[in-house]
Amino acid sequence: MSGLTIALSKGRIFDETLPLLEAAGIIVTEDAETSRKLILPTSRSDMRVIIVRASDVPTYVRYGAADLGVAGRDVLAEQGAAGLYQPIDLQIARCRMVVAAAQDYDYESAVRRGARLRVATKYLQTAREHFAAKGVHVDLIKLYGSMELAPLVGLADAIVDLVSSGNTLRANNLRAVEDIMPVSARLIVNQAALKLKRALIQPLLDSFAHAVTPV
Ligand code: ADP
Ligand code: MG
Repeated sequence: MSGLTIALSKGRIFDETLPLLEAAGIIVTEDAETSRKLILPTSRSDMRVIIVRASDVPTYVRYGAADLGVAGRDVLAEQGAAGLYQPIDLQIARCRMVVAAAQDYDYESAVRRGARLRVATKYLQTAREHFAAKGVHVDLIKLYGSMELAPLVGLADAIVDLVSSGNTLRANNLRAVEDIMPVSARLIVNQAALKLKRALIQPLLDSFAHAVTPV
């Protein structure tokens, strides 16, 4: 395609990217939440949006099936960002990656004792690096969602997950016991597309950079 394809995931990232696209003069003319279409047209005939799973955004961009996309730091940290140009932290979809445990589990003393911890997460790579850096021995259990359940039913001593308000943790009698990193979503760009489609991409980068609220 000679125009631009932009990869987004439904939910926070889509909702919070829309105003940035609008500031660049790109209006998505169909509602991702109600439409079953996976390719959404925009007010610009040379630009379209594709809807993919959050963790698939870097894959589409890396292979050039999308020229650019928006992906959380959590996803980029987990998968690595080789081959991707990351020009702008968009400061959207902000949350924190944390270690959380049941309120009545004495995480701190388990760590002090040097206990081997069972940790459930979908972020295996990030969790492995975090606990290795702290010298904590862990058995990691891969999950694909609803990590909060794992400590409640004895699957794990702790989880590694994203939190924003903390409401889900509180509702499930969990507490954050360690911070791993602040998370926000970044613009990612295919490196070849950046060179070959510079005339289309550069104005977008300029507009996005301008629209990002400084922190
Ligand atoms: P999926 O359900 O496909 O695994 P989510 O919709 O839960 O993905 O999350 C998509 C992206 O949104 C994540 O990669 C992360 O960057 C961001 N995100 C996830 N949870 C939160 C949160 N609680 N607050 C803000 N951003 C979040
Ligand atoms: Mg989700």
